[in-house]
Amino acid sequence: MTDIEKNVEKLLKELPSHNPQGERVKLVAAVKTQTPEAINRAVRAGVNIIGDNHVQEFRDKYDLIEGNPERHFIGHLQTNKVKYLIGRTDLYHSVDRYNLAEEISRRSAAAGTVSRVLVQINIGCEQTKGGFDLSQADEAVARIAELPAMEVRGLMAMLPFTDDEDELQRLARAMRSKYDELKAVRPQFEYLSMGMSGDWKLCIECGSNMVRIGTAIFGERHYDK
Ligand SMILES: *Cc1c(COP(=O)(O)O)cnc(C)c1O
Repeated sequence: MTDIEKNVEKLLKELPSHNPQGERVKLVAAVKTQTPEAINRAVRAGVNIIGDNHVQEFRDKYDLIEGNPERHFIGHLQTNKVKYLIGRTDLYHSVDRYNLAEEISRRSAAAGTVSRVLVQINIGCEQTKGGFDLSQADEAVARIAELPAMEVRGLMAMLPFTDDEDELQRLARAMRSKYDELKAVRPQFEYLSMGMSGDWKLCIECGSNMVRIGTAIFGERHYDK
């Protein structure tokens, strides 16, 4: 076995099958910079969902992935590249602005398909991250859900990089509260996508039901290629 298989096996053992709310926890392998061979190894070891960040990588690798995993898009998405993803993406995690939502809607309607999306919330109010403020979440979800050929299935967030566990818990719980509030009136809400290699445990304890994990599966990324 290579490291990838070992890492997937270990992760699948460590990940709780359900969060404290009793919802199944889903694992998305974050595959940016990984080769099709590496991704296929992870899929064979038990990964059911892969998440891309870059449209070019998504396109280059699309036909080389075996085992038919779900395809998610988890990264920042330029509006002019949406056309390459329509009909090939099971879930868009990172709808972080209205013009992106409108473009996904327009292209989906034209293609006769419905796109499932998560609305990204900038929970740490970080300049460097995309997403709506938590205070705008209700309005953002309402406006995006009204667009044709779109289904809003939940929320996505990235916690800030900090060692302050109390702060991380406070933010993760705030995300879960907002998710619960929205889910109460939107039965199609199913996913709170929150948690990466460094913080997935805390995120699941606070109510995440979908984690996006790269480094803990594939090792440190190399961007020099
Ligand atoms: C890269 C990435 C991840 C995974 O990060 P790791 O720390 O490598 O687990 C999760 N979500 C998004 C949006 C990413 O870009």
